[in-house]
Amino acid sequence: MSNWIDLRSDTFTLPSDAMRQAMAFAPVGDDVFGEDPTVNQLEKYCAELFGTEAALYCSSGTQSNQIAINVHTQPGDEVICADLAHIYIYEGGGIALNSGCSVRLISGNLGRFSAQDVLNNINNKNDIHLPLTRLVCIEDTVNKGGGAIWDFEEIKRIRKVCLENNLSLHCDGARLFNALIESGISPKDYAAQFDSISICLSKGLGAPVGSILVGSSEFIAKSRRRRKSMGGGMRQAGIIAAGALFALQHNVERLKTDHQNAKRISSVLMNHPEIVSVLPVETNIVIFETRKSDGAEEMINWLKSNNILCFPFGKNKVRMVFHLGINEDLMNELINVFQ
Ligand SMILES: *Cc1c(COP(=O)(O)O)cnc(C)c1O
Repeated sequence: MSNWIDLRSDTFTLPSDAMRQAMAFAPVGDDVFGEDPTVNQLEKYCAELFGTEAALYCSSGTQSNQIAINVHTQPGDEVICADLAHIYIYEGGGIALNSGCSVRLISGNLGRFSAQDVLNNINNKNDIHLPLTRLVCIEDTVNKGGGAIWDFEEIKRIRKVCLENNLSLHCDGARLFNALIESGISPKDYAAQFDSISICLSKGLGAPVGSILVGSSEFIAKSRRRRKSMGGGMRQAGIIAAGALFALQHNVERLKTDHQNAKRISSVLMNHPEIVSVLPVETNIVIFETRKSDGAEEMINWLKSNNILCFPFGKNKVRMVFHLGINEDLMNELINVFQ
Protein backbone atom coordinates (compact mmCIF):
# COMPACT_ATOMS: atom_id res chain seq x y z
CA MET A 1 0.00 0.00 0.00
CA SER A 2 3.00 2.31 0.07
CA ASN A 3 1.90 4.05 -3.15
CA TRP A 4 -1.36 5.17 -1.64
CA ILE A 5 -1.97 8.34 0.26
CA ASP A 6 -4.25 6.63 2.73
CA LEU A 7 -6.50 9.15 4.47
CA ARG A 8 -9.38 6.76 5.20
CA SER A 9 -8.61 6.69 8.92
CA ASP A 10 -5.80 7.07 11.44
CA THR A 11 -6.40 3.38 12.22
CA PHE A 12 -4.42 2.55 9.05
CA THR A 13 -1.17 3.69 10.70
CA LEU A 14 1.54 1.01 10.66
CA PRO A 15 4.14 0.26 13.36
CA SER A 16 7.60 1.71 12.67
CA ASP A 17 10.74 -0.46 12.76
CA ALA A 18 11.63 0.95 16.19
CA MET A 19 8.15 0.12 17.51
CA ARG A 20 8.45 -3.42 16.12
CA GLN A 21 11.82 -3.80 17.87
CA ALA A 22 10.30 -2.72 21.17
CA MET A 23 7.49 -5.23 20.67
CA ALA A 24 9.77 -8.11 19.67
CA PHE A 25 11.89 -7.86 22.81
CA ALA A 26 9.18 -6.95 25.33
CA PRO A 27 9.14 -9.08 28.49
CA VAL A 28 5.82 -10.93 28.71
CA GLY A 29 3.75 -13.15 31.03
CA ASP A 30 0.14 -14.17 31.55
CA ASP A 31 -1.80 -10.93 31.90
CA VAL A 32 -4.98 -12.66 33.11
CA PHE A 33 -2.90 -13.57 36.17
CA GLY A 34 -1.51 -10.03 36.32
CA GLU A 35 1.95 -11.33 35.41
CA ASP A 36 2.72 -9.53 32.16
CA PRO A 37 5.39 -6.95 33.09
CA THR A 38 4.89 -4.91 29.91
CA VAL A 39 1.11 -4.65 30.32
CA ASN A 40 1.64 -3.73 33.97
CA GLN A 41 4.15 -1.07 32.92
CA LEU A 42 1.74 0.36 30.33
CA GLU A 43 -1.13 0.51 32.83
CA LYS A 44 1.10 2.16 35.45
CA TYR A 45 2.41 4.65 32.88
CA CYS A 46 -1.14 5.67 31.88
CA ALA A 47 -2.43 5.92 35.44
CA GLU A 48 0.52 8.21 36.31
CA LEU A 49 0.08 10.27 33.13
CA PHE A 50 -3.61 10.90 33.85
CA GLY A 51 -3.24 11.07 37.63
CA THR A 52 -5.77 8.29 38.17
CA GLU A 53 -5.49 5.42 40.65
CA ALA A 54 -5.50 2.74 37.96
CA ALA A 55 -5.70 1.85 34.27
CA LEU A 56 -6.73 -1.16 32.18
CA TYR A 57 -5.41 -2.21 28.76
CA CYS A 58 -8.29 -3.27 26.49
CA SER A 59 -8.33 -4.85 23.06
CA SER A 60 -10.18 -1.97 21.36
CA GLY A 61 -11.82 1.39 21.98
CA THR A 62 -15.22 -0.19 21.56
CA GLN A 63 -14.35 -2.67 24.29
CA SER A 64 -13.09 -0.03 26.73
CA ASN A 65 -16.14 2.20 26.12
CA GLN A 66 -18.55 -0.70 26.50
CA ILE A 67 -16.88 -1.90 29.69
CA ALA A 68 -17.08 1.61 31.16
CA ILE A 69 -20.77 1.99 30.25
CA ASN A 70 -21.47 -1.42 31.76
CA VAL A 71 -19.67 -0.69 35.02
CA HIS A 72 -21.35 2.72 35.45
CA THR A 73 -24.92 1.48 34.85
CA GLN A 74 -27.60 -1.10 35.72
CA PRO A 75 -29.98 -2.58 33.10
CA GLY A 76 -32.91 -0.19 32.56
CA ASP A 77 -30.86 2.95 33.27
CA GLU A 78 -30.51 5.73 30.72
CA VAL A 79 -27.30 7.08 29.16
CA ILE A 80 -27.03 10.65 27.84
CA CYS A 81 -24.80 11.22 24.80
CA ALA A 82 -24.65 13.20 21.55
CA ASP A 83 -26.54 12.02 18.46
CA LEU A 84 -23.15 11.86 16.70
CA ALA A 85 -21.52 9.69 19.40
CA HIS A 86 -19.44 6.69 18.38
CA ILE A 87 -20.81 4.75 21.38
CA TYR A 88 -24.31 5.15 19.90
CA ILE A 89 -23.69 4.94 16.13
CA TYR A 90 -20.68 2.69 15.67
CA GLU A 91 -20.55 0.16 18.50
CA GLY A 92 -23.04 -2.37 17.15
CA GLY A 93 -25.85 -1.41 19.52
CA GLY A 94 -23.51 -2.31 22.38
CA ILE A 95 -25.22 -0.06 24.93
CA ALA A 96 -28.45 -2.06 24.53
CA LEU A 97 -26.76 -5.40 23.97
CA ASN A 98 -24.17 -5.34 26.76
CA SER A 99 -25.78 -3.09 29.34
CA GLY A 100 -29.53 -3.08 28.63
CA CYS A 101 -29.69 0.70 28.83
CA SER A 102 -31.75 3.21 26.91
CA VAL A 103 -30.06 6.21 25.34
CA ARG A 104 -31.07 9.89 25.42
CA LEU A 105 -29.57 11.67 22.43
CA ILE A 106 -28.65 15.34 22.39
CA SER A 107 -28.16 17.07 19.06
CA GLY A 108 -25.47 19.55 19.89
CA ASN A 109 -22.95 21.61 17.96
CA LEU A 110 -20.73 19.16 16.04
CA GLY A 111 -21.33 16.53 18.70
CA ARG A 112 -20.78 18.85 21.66
CA PHE A 113 -23.51 19.85 24.11
CA SER A 114 -23.81 22.11 27.15
CA ALA A 115 -24.35 21.56 30.86
CA GLN A 116 -27.83 23.06 30.36
CA ASP A 117 -28.54 20.40 27.69
CA VAL A 118 -27.58 17.73 30.22
CA LEU A 119 -29.86 19.28 32.86
CA ASN A 120 -32.74 19.38 30.36
CA ASN A 121 -32.34 15.66 29.66
CA ILE A 122 -32.14 14.24 33.19
CA ASN A 123 -35.30 12.34 34.04
CA ASN A 124 -37.18 13.06 37.25
CA LYS A 125 -35.99 10.23 39.51
CA ASN A 126 -39.23 10.32 41.51
CA ASP A 127 -41.37 9.52 38.46
CA ILE A 128 -41.47 5.71 38.22
CA HIS A 129 -42.47 5.87 34.55
CA LEU A 130 -39.07 7.12 33.53
CA PRO A 131 -35.75 5.30 33.27
CA LEU A 132 -33.16 6.46 35.78
CA THR A 133 -30.61 8.73 34.19
CA ARG A 134 -27.27 7.35 35.30
CA LEU A 135 -24.42 8.26 32.95
CA VAL A 136 -23.27 11.07 30.67
CA CYS A 137 -20.79 10.32 27.88
CA ILE A 138 -18.88 12.88 25.86
CA GLU A 139 -16.54 12.23 22.93
CA ASP A 140 -13.37 14.32 22.62
CA THR A 141 -12.41 14.96 19.85
CA VAL A 142 -15.72 14.34 18.05
CA ASN A 143 -15.13 11.99 15.12
CA LYS A 144 -18.42 12.80 13.34
CA GLY A 145 -17.95 16.46 14.24
CA GLY A 146 -14.83 16.70 12.09
CA GLY A 147 -12.40 16.36 14.98
CA ALA A 148 -14.02 19.13 17.05
CA ILE A 149 -12.59 19.79 20.54
CA TRP A 150 -14.77 20.29 23.63
CA ASP A 151 -14.54 23.53 25.60
CA PHE A 152 -12.89 22.59 28.91
CA GLU A 153 -14.95 25.15 30.85
CA GLU A 154 -18.15 23.51 29.56
CA ILE A 155 -16.79 20.10 30.60
CA LYS A 156 -16.30 21.48 34.12
CA ARG A 157 -19.90 22.74 34.16
CA ILE A 158 -21.13 19.32 32.96
CA ARG A 159 -19.09 17.68 35.70
CA LYS A 160 -20.80 19.88 38.28
CA VAL A 161 -24.26 18.93 36.95
CA CYS A 162 -23.26 15.25 37.09
CA LEU A 163 -22.05 15.51 40.69
CA GLU A 164 -25.24 17.30 41.73
CA ASN A 165 -27.44 14.65 40.09
CA ASN A 166 -25.54 11.49 41.00
CA LEU A 167 -24.48 10.80 37.39
CA SER A 168 -21.18 9.31 36.28
CA LEU A 169 -19.22 11.06 33.53
CA HIS A 170 -17.32 9.05 30.92
CA CYS A 171 -15.18 10.38 28.09
CA ASP A 172 -14.74 8.48 24.83
CA GLY A 173 -11.28 9.91 24.27
CA ALA A 174 -10.45 7.84 21.21
CA ARG A 175 -8.54 10.91 19.98
CA LEU A 176 -8.09 12.66 23.32
CA PHE A 177 -4.39 13.38 22.75
CA ASN A 178 -5.31 15.29 19.59
CA ALA A 179 -7.50 17.51 21.79
CA LEU A 180 -4.96 17.92 24.60
CA ILE A 181 -2.02 18.71 22.33
CA GLU A 182 -4.10 21.47 20.73
CA SER A 183 -5.68 22.93 23.90
CA GLY A 184 -2.59 22.61 26.09
CA ILE A 185 -4.69 21.18 28.95
CA SER A 186 -2.72 18.57 30.92
CA PRO A 187 -3.90 14.94 30.98
CA LYS A 188 -4.16 15.19 34.80
CA ASP A 189 -6.33 18.32 34.83
CA TYR A 190 -8.53 16.81 32.15
CA ALA A 191 -8.92 13.43 33.82
CA ALA A 192 -9.82 15.05 37.16
CA GLN A 193 -13.20 15.98 35.62
CA PHE A 194 -14.19 12.40 34.73
CA ASP A 195 -15.06 9.08 36.35
CA SER A 196 -13.50 7.25 33.41
CA ILE A 197 -11.76 7.92 30.10
CA SER A 198 -11.09 5.55 27.20
CA ILE A 199 -8.14 6.42 24.94
CA CYS A 200 -7.27 4.71 21.64
CA LEU A 201 -3.62 3.83 21.15
CA SER A 202 -4.20 2.32 17.71
CA LYS A 203 -5.19 5.53 15.93
CA GLY A 204 -3.03 8.59 15.45
CA LEU A 205 -0.56 7.36 18.06
CA GLY A 206 0.28 4.49 15.72
CA ALA A 207 0.21 1.39 17.96
CA PRO A 208 -1.14 -1.73 16.24
CA VAL A 209 -3.65 -2.77 18.92
CA GLY A 210 -5.48 -1.52 21.97
CA SER A 211 -7.08 1.17 24.07
CA ILE A 212 -6.56 2.19 27.66
CA LEU A 213 -9.26 2.82 30.24
CA VAL A 214 -8.38 5.03 33.22
CA GLY A 215 -10.28 5.61 36.49
CA SER A 216 -10.37 4.86 40.21
CA SER A 217 -9.04 1.56 41.64
CA GLU A 218 -12.59 0.46 42.38
CA PHE A 219 -13.79 1.28 38.86
CA ILE A 220 -10.81 -0.45 37.22
CA ALA A 221 -11.19 -3.55 39.44
CA LYS A 222 -14.81 -3.87 38.27
CA SER A 223 -13.74 -3.17 34.68
CA ARG A 224 -11.09 -5.91 34.83
CA ARG A 225 -13.79 -8.36 35.90
CA ARG A 226 -16.11 -7.14 33.10
CA ARG A 227 -13.30 -7.31 30.52
CA LYS A 228 -12.81 -10.98 31.39
CA SER A 229 -16.51 -11.79 31.04
CA MET A 230 -16.58 -9.98 27.68
CA GLY A 231 -13.80 -12.25 26.47
CA GLY A 232 -11.12 -9.58 26.66
CA GLY A 233 -8.68 -11.28 29.04
CA MET A 234 -5.49 -11.63 26.97
CA ARG A 235 -2.44 -13.70 27.84
CA GLN A 236 1.03 -12.57 26.66
CA ALA A 237 -0.45 -9.20 25.70
CA GLY A 238 2.87 -7.48 26.48
CA ILE A 239 3.77 -7.97 22.80
CA ILE A 240 1.08 -5.49 21.79
CA ALA A 241 1.25 -3.42 24.98
CA ALA A 242 4.91 -2.68 24.11
CA GLY A 243 3.73 -1.04 20.86
CA ALA A 244 1.18 0.96 22.83
CA LEU A 245 3.78 2.13 25.35
CA PHE A 246 6.18 3.06 22.55
CA ALA A 247 3.39 5.07 20.89
CA LEU A 248 2.69 7.02 24.08
CA GLN A 249 6.37 7.73 24.62
CA HIS A 250 7.18 8.80 21.05
CA ASN A 251 4.11 9.82 19.07
CA VAL A 252 2.11 12.28 21.17
CA GLU A 253 3.93 15.57 20.43
CA ARG A 254 4.03 14.90 16.70
CA LEU A 255 0.20 14.93 16.47
CA LYS A 256 0.63 18.70 15.96
CA THR A 257 2.04 17.97 12.51
CA ASP A 258 -1.14 16.09 11.57
CA HIS A 259 -3.22 19.08 12.66
CA GLN A 260 -1.06 21.44 10.58
CA ASN A 261 -1.44 19.14 7.58
CA ALA A 262 -5.22 19.00 8.00
CA LYS A 263 -5.42 22.81 8.19
CA ARG A 264 -3.15 23.15 5.16
CA ILE A 265 -5.34 20.92 2.98
CA SER A 266 -8.58 22.51 4.17
CA SER A 267 -7.67 25.88 2.64
CA VAL A 268 -6.82 24.12 -0.64
CA LEU A 269 -10.13 22.22 -0.62
CA MET A 270 -12.14 25.42 -0.25
CA ASN A 271 -10.88 26.55 -3.67
CA HIS A 272 -11.89 23.35 -5.45
CA PRO A 273 -14.92 23.79 -7.79
CA GLU A 274 -16.54 20.45 -6.76
CA ILE A 275 -16.37 21.22 -3.03
CA VAL A 276 -18.90 23.59 -1.41
CA SER A 277 -17.89 23.55 2.23
CA VAL A 278 -15.35 22.23 4.68
CA LEU A 279 -16.11 21.75 8.39
CA PRO A 280 -13.87 23.86 10.65
CA VAL A 281 -10.59 22.00 11.10
CA GLU A 282 -9.43 21.84 14.71
CA THR A 283 -7.38 18.64 14.76
CA ASN A 284 -6.51 15.83 12.32
CA ILE A 285 -9.91 15.28 10.66
CA VAL A 286 -11.22 17.08 7.59
CA ILE A 287 -14.84 16.60 6.49
CA PHE A 288 -15.94 18.33 3.29
CA GLU A 289 -19.16 18.52 1.31
CA THR A 290 -19.38 18.00 -2.45
CA ARG A 291 -21.23 20.40 -4.78
CA LYS A 292 -23.42 17.57 -6.07
CA SER A 293 -25.91 16.22 -3.53
CA ASP A 294 -24.71 12.66 -4.24
CA GLY A 295 -21.12 13.55 -5.13
CA ALA A 296 -19.20 11.63 -2.45
CA GLU A 297 -18.76 8.44 -4.49
CA GLU A 298 -17.62 10.29 -7.61
CA MET A 299 -15.17 12.34 -5.53
CA ILE A 300 -13.80 9.21 -3.84
CA ASN A 301 -13.32 7.48 -7.20
CA TRP A 302 -11.57 10.50 -8.69
CA LEU A 303 -9.27 10.65 -5.66
CA LYS A 304 -8.60 6.93 -5.93
CA SER A 305 -7.51 7.34 -9.57
CA ASN A 306 -4.95 9.79 -8.15
CA ASN A 307 -3.68 7.34 -5.50
CA ILE A 308 -5.62 8.97 -2.68
CA LEU A 309 -7.90 6.96 -0.42
CA CYS A 310 -10.70 8.69 1.52
CA PHE A 311 -13.80 7.57 3.34
CA PRO A 312 -17.41 8.55 2.42
CA PHE A 313 -19.34 10.15 5.31
CA GLY A 314 -22.83 10.14 3.78
CA LYS A 315 -23.91 10.81 0.16
CA ASN A 316 -22.26 14.19 -0.19
CA LYS A 317 -19.58 14.17 2.48
CA VAL A 318 -16.01 12.88 2.43
CA ARG A 319 -13.71 12.43 5.42
CA MET A 320 -9.92 12.69 5.41
CA VAL A 321 -7.87 11.78 8.48
CA PHE A 322 -4.24 12.89 8.82
CA HIS A 323 -1.74 10.73 10.66
CA LEU A 324 1.93 9.78 11.02
CA GLY A 325 1.94 7.94 7.67
CA ILE A 326 1.42 11.23 5.80
CA ASN A 327 4.80 12.94 5.43
CA GLU A 328 5.82 16.18 3.70
CA ASP A 329 6.25 14.51 0.26
CA LEU A 330 2.80 12.96 0.39
CA MET A 331 1.32 16.28 1.54
CA ASN A 332 2.81 18.05 -1.47
CA GLU A 333 1.50 15.34 -3.78
CA LEU A 334 -1.97 15.64 -2.21
CA ILE A 335 -2.04 19.41 -2.61
CA ASN A 336 -0.91 19.10 -6.25
CA VAL A 337 -3.79 16.77 -7.05
CA PHE A 338 -6.38 19.26 -5.72
CA GLN A 339 -4.75 22.22 -7.43
C1 LIG B 1 -12.22 4.53 16.74
C2 LIG B 1 -13.11 5.06 17.77
C3 LIG B 1 -13.49 4.28 18.87
C4 LIG B 1 -13.05 2.86 19.12
O1 LIG B 1 -12.82 2.14 18.01
P1 LIG B 1 -12.15 0.68 17.98
O2 LIG B 1 -12.05 0.49 16.51
O3 LIG B 1 -13.11 -0.23 18.63
O4 LIG B 1 -10.84 0.74 18.67
C5 LIG B 1 -14.29 4.87 19.82
N1 LIG B 1 -14.69 6.13 19.69
C6 LIG B 1 -14.35 6.91 18.65
C7 LIG B 1 -14.80 8.33 18.60
C8 LIG B 1 -13.54 6.41 17.64
O5 LIG B 1 -13.20 7.18 16.62
